[in-house]
Amino acid sequence: KAKDEGRNNYQTYSSKLTELMHEQVTMRTSLHKALKNDEFILNYQPQIDSMTDRIIGMEALIRWNHPELGRVSPAKFIPLAEETGFIVELDRWVMQEAMSKLSSWYEEGLNPGMLALNLAMKQIQKSDFLEFLKNTMKETNCLSEWIELEVTEGEIMKNPDESIATLKEINKLGITLAIDDFGTGYSSLSYLKKLPVNKLKIDQSFIKDTPDDEDDVAITKAVIALAKSLKMSVIAEGVETKAQKDFLILNECLQIQGYYYSPPVDAQKMRDMLIEQKEKEA
Ligand code: C2E
Ligand code: MG
Ligand code: MG
Ligand code: MG
Repeated sequence: KAKDEGRNNYQTYSSKLTELMHEQVTMRTSLHKALKNDEFILNYQPQIDSMTDRIIGMEALIRWNHPELGRVSPAKFIPLAEETGFIVELDRWVMQEAMSKLSSWYEEGLNPGMLALNLAMKQIQKSDFLEFLKNTMKETNCLSEWIELEVTEGEIMKNPDESIATLKEINKLGITLAIDDFGTGYSSLSYLKKLPVNKLKIDQSFIKDTPDDEDDVAITKAVIALAKSLKMSVIAEGVETKAQKDFLILNECLQIQGYYYSPPVDAQKMRDMLIEQKEKEA
């Protein structure tokens, strides 16, 4: 009996493994083509003023509709794209697409606020990155004060000195810099002080169990206090409940993002939300 079970477990394990390997190979071979085949789309998730519920910005999040695999999560294909270097091309497409959307919303009189883009350090460190960024802003009619670039803490800390130099150049353009997934990496406080960063994004893993989990409450409060003392703004991601939102307001975290207000939505839905907000305020 036990032997049978072992065999069955082995079989499910082995077929699961084959399936995963198949998926990996399929993703690898089709990633490049996917851009030409228009298989990527952008979603936008609103960022909210926690006190007023106004949309103050949005984060662009990429989606891949694979003809065979269906919707592939960025958690799966972004690491692959980073590994192969394709991420540079892919995120340049994201920047062009999202910045032209943002500017079209401003043009029709809506108030989308800031656009946050996720960038790999590999991108930022390309020698022609600043040039590309400036050109894209010019081509899409985007002002630098509308743009925020998110880099994860882990990525910055892989090469902190080099990162500081590059981030300084970006900051000089008037673009906001945010550290994504803050708290999950290992920044030393002395580096944090030196980083030309304007905003900390508290990782959703800490928000998830607030306000019930004492440790997560303590960590979240500490990050909010840290941001304040470093004169940075702070946003909480992964806010799913009213209790979490109330806890954040109480602790003066003035910006929130998460399913509680809205999941990431397509451009059309995002535009509808902006129109609705404008009508409410008219
Ligand atoms: P991230 O930048 O930390 O993005 C936040 C993730 O949390 C997103 O997952 C978002 O859909 C999800 N999320 C938002 N609100 C909630 C919530 O209330 N609860 C929970 N449980 N999750 C929430 P997504 O879209 O799957 O993206 C995963 C990661 O992939 C992103 O993490 C980012 O690191 C990367 N990524 C996404 N789009 C891009 C892109 O265009 N370029 C690059 N380089 N990376 C991207
Ligand atoms: Mg992000
Ligand atoms: Mg994050
Ligand atoms: Mg992340």
